[in-house]
Amino acid sequence: MPPHLKYLSWAIDFFIPRSCPLCLEPHPYGSEGVLCHACQNALERSDPPWCPKCGKPFSSGMTLAYSPNHLCEECQKFPPAYDSARSVGPYDGLFRELIHLMKYRGYTSVATELGAMLAHLARREMQEPLPPEDILVTFAPIDHDRWKIRGFDQAKVLARSAAKNLGIKFAETIVRKKSTLPQTSLSASGRKKNLRGVFSVKSPDLVSGKRVLLVDDVLTTGSTASACARELKKAGAGSVDVLTVCHTLLQNTVSY
Ligand SMILES: [Zn+2]
Ligand SMILES: [Zn+2]
Repeated sequence: MPPHLKYLSWAIDFFIPRSCPLCLEPHPYGSEGVLCHACQNALERSDPPWCPKCGKPFSSGMTLAYSPNHLCEECQKFPPAYDSARSVGPYDGLFRELIHLMKYRGYTSVATELGAMLAHLARREMQEPLPPEDILVTFAPIDHDRWKIRGFDQAKVLARSAAKNLGIKFAETIVRKKSTLPQTSLSASGRKKNLRGVFSVKSPDLVSGKRVLLVDDVLTTGSTASACARELKKAGAGSVDVLTVCHTLLQNTVSY
């Protein structure tokens, strides 16, 4: 942070003390993060071994040691359209609390912090780093009815923040054409039917030949990410990697 902004930040902290949104402890003057160090360190981040495709944690690394491309049962049965999905941590504990603060209580500053974590994850997981002009960050827009209630799209805020941290282009490429029922309430075939014809890509020339990073807050069934990845690839995307803050351990990924 440039010195003049640092002094300004200290002055603001003096008059309007900031506090950590998780533990509510006041921040020391001039600290830069949204979360305090104790809460940062207490976040339970996910680490390998995991399914190379969907990122679902494996209980042991034994299989991967002998067969590095071994996929989980769901990915073998219903191969998703995306190339990989990775999450910062489980949808549980402090991560769940952070997602709720952002989505339901409007703490968009939390999205800035989570965007930085997504950028860190992307850097760690990118097998072959590409020139920044060949990569694009995008998101799947939320349902219009939910947007009207929240007033913002958390996936868009996260994607924009991740792109800024990575120093790569952000673009709104996907259009949601109709409302859907919540995916978690449906069977595998119901989820597939629910998402049929919902997404399209508005400017194929933006994604054509690009490595696309599709950002969202939580990966639950993976069917929305898969439906978007399918459309992005139909529009010419070279690959689609999904980055989410959290994952759940729900089963039955839908094939698209
Ligand atoms: Zn804290
Ligand atoms: Zn998998």
